[in-house]
Amino acid sequence: MERILITGGTVLTMTGPDAVYEGGLVAIEDGRIAYAGPAQAAPAEVRAPGWAQRTIEATGRLVLPGLVNTHTHAAMVLLRGYADDMRLMEWLETKIWPVEANLTAEDVYWGTALACLESLLAGVTTFNDMYFFMADAARAVADTGARAVLSRGIIGSGEDFRSRLADAWDFYRAWHGKADGRVLTMLAPHAPYTVAPPELEKVAEAAAEMGVGIHIHLVETRDEVELLRQRYGKTAFEIIRDAGLTRHPVVGAHCVHPTDADMEIFAAAGGRVAHCPVSNLKLACGVAPILAWRRAGVPVGLGTDGAASANQMSLWGEIRLAALLQKNASGDPRAFTAYDAVHAATAGGARVLGLEDRIGTLEPGKRADLILVDARRPGLTPVHDPFSILAYSTNPGDVETVLVDGRVVVEDRRLTTMDAAEITAKAAEHARRLVGAA
Ligand SMILES: [Zn+2]
Repeated sequence: MERILITGGTVLTMTGPDAVYEGGLVAIEDGRIAYAGPAQAAPAEVRAPGWAQRTIEATGRLVLPGLVNTHTHAAMVLLRGYADDMRLMEWLETKIWPVEANLTAEDVYWGTALACLESLLAGVTTFNDMYFFMADAARAVADTGARAVLSRGIIGSGEDFRSRLADAWDFYRAWHGKADGRVLTMLAPHAPYTVAPPELEKVAEAAAEMGVGIHIHLVETRDEVELLRQRYGKTAFEIIRDAGLTRHPVVGAHCVHPTDADMEIFAAAGGRVAHCPVSNLKLACGVAPILAWRRAGVPVGLGTDGAASANQMSLWGEIRLAALLQKNASGDPRAFTAYDAVHAATAGGARVLGLEDRIGTLEPGKRADLILVDARRPGLTPVHDPFSILAYSTNPGDVETVLVDGRVVVEDRRLTTMDAAEITAKAAEHARRLVGAA
């Protein structure tokens, strides 16, 4: 496979706030990072003339790991802007679920392809997805060159539940570890208020057999907390613990309203939080206590949630908002720094997905998922502090080049793997049919 050198840029390995290498070097071989750091400290072989087949000139760019979106429903980009400014349950019951009842496999393929296109152009190289028709979502990930953890959303009881769990098994057998390892799977029971404890126990058994993690919505709203208390006399975290789900790595989306005891339960179980600040504010759910989660020892990543609620798949808004919200909530601007926010979107997100051995930092041996942000643009100039630029000033259009698995998938702000105009046209056509059929 191609050997690539990235030269002249400011390399941020995301292994620590001091790991900033101006005029740094990244060497890539067989889809992995062979070296990342100061040019003069690179092994002689990668600096030898003719080592690389391709050199990417990165002077004036920030070179960092690809962003990791830890919670989304990718194909929901088809419902972007379809129903805004509503309460969560009303929004789900009157708008989203009726339309989703008409979803087809091709809708999900083109919707996911659009989500991949938008994500990759914004520098988001990995996303953690929960939806339907996952084999078609996986085809879109494979075709666009993105990386994703994909899970068949499981909801309901009885025959509905059984057929969805069977679907999740089929998807796992067909796709786990496929597309050169870029597609992985988890099990995704929707939430403790939509999947009852006996069914959650069956999901836990399946997770043990597959050896995969769990992706689930947890305490997104106060209403949900109250509903679970009335129905079961328990919190969501007590329910998932008692059902055996926390014997597996659990990615909890939102985690806005935990009790202190919930935090202890989740921390002891090795749980992880996917923080979705834009979605939470848009649906007036509250602000997740991210500082407390981190103090409890729970890894925190950032997520967009579906574009039907968050309206976009780029993570730059979440990075900025995560920092601003925690500063404001704590009354201390030092509480969550620019570095903390960029870390949550890269290394933190990788840890949340259990992929810290593969992605999230620029270190030898890891898969070469990385992005170049053009810091020569007016809105990013001057670069006194690269983490400040990334956390507070960068927008999706500032991302110039994107590599996934050592392959250049975005070059000069254009997708190289598929025809972007075809993706947007097909997705718009499928969105019109879907909404018209509701
Ligand atoms: Zn969600």
